[in-house]
Amino acid sequence: MEIFKSKSDLLNAIKNHKGALGLVPTMGGIHEGHLSLIRRAFKENSIMIVSIFVNPIQFDNAIDLKKYPRNLTRDASLISEISDKIKIYAPNQEDVYGKKIKPKKYSFKKLDKVMEGIKRENHFNGVANIIEFLFKTFNPENVYFGEKDYQQLQIVRSLNKILRMSINIIQCPTIRSKNGLALSSRNQNLTSNEQSIAPEIYKCLLDVKKMAKVNSYEEIQNEVSSRFLKIKQCNLEYFTISNPKTLEEINSTDSILGNRAFIAVKIGDTRLIDNIELS
Ligand code: AMP
Repeated sequence: MEIFKSKSDLLNAIKNHKGALGLVPTMGGIHEGHLSLIRRAFKENSIMIVSIFVNPIQFDNAIDLKKYPRNLTRDASLISEISDKIKIYAPNQEDVYGKKIKPKKYSFKKLDKVMEGIKRENHFNGVANIIEFLFKTFNPENVYFGEKDYQQLQIVRSLNKILRMSINIIQCPTIRSKNGLALSSRNQNLTSNEQSIAPEIYKCLLDVKKMAKVNSYEEIQNEVSSRFLKIKQCNLEYFTISNPKTLEEINSTDSILGNRAFIAVKIGDTRLIDNIELS
């Protein structure tokens, strides 16, 4: 398994490759959700890179950045179970941003003014900086992202257009544990009591999907709010049904089906997000 700390070493190692180059950007803390993207990318490309970089400028909270899981040996070992031909790019900050970080500013119009964009100022701008760096450095043909971070997926699609690149952005389904909880590196921060509460998020989304066929948006919103009010350790940060392309919230008179429900819940100190298609 080759782990590259330097982009020039990695570029040198892949310079003679033939066929499609696939990329899976991650921040490490590799779990089955990441592995599903990596497996798919491995099948669909002749060479592939997994990047592992905890991107400081997408964190709005220093504690969150500090406690983000970092274990390259474990991550590399999980990835090598898929194939030891996969190249891991695990740079330090300087290899990505140079000596001093000078973040570029983007305009995503309304896409970053809703949901996570309100709760986490500059988050998507930070994400776009690292993604632009990865796109321009490696110029991959196919890049894989999880639906779990659906807003991020739409931002990346928009970035691809802003940069006038025509990389294939491949949307991959959310992988969940048996109890329905979407896998996330942040789940490790949940206490055992919080772990028993967290599956409520997906249960709620499944009920929303059922209600979407018969109830109004207002009825659904009331039901979701009252559900989380009953759980002491939970704070519902937002629940919204929005257009899957523009991410604009629907109006009370719009039809619900064909849209997507988004939720963010804080359980103890851990923020969890999830979403579901309402078909
Ligand atoms: P992260 O390391 O959290 O930045 O995630 C790296 C990639 O893995 C992103 O495209 C995420 O959307 C994706 N991802 C994270 N969790 C899951 C999951 N449970 N199912 C599918 N994809 C996921």
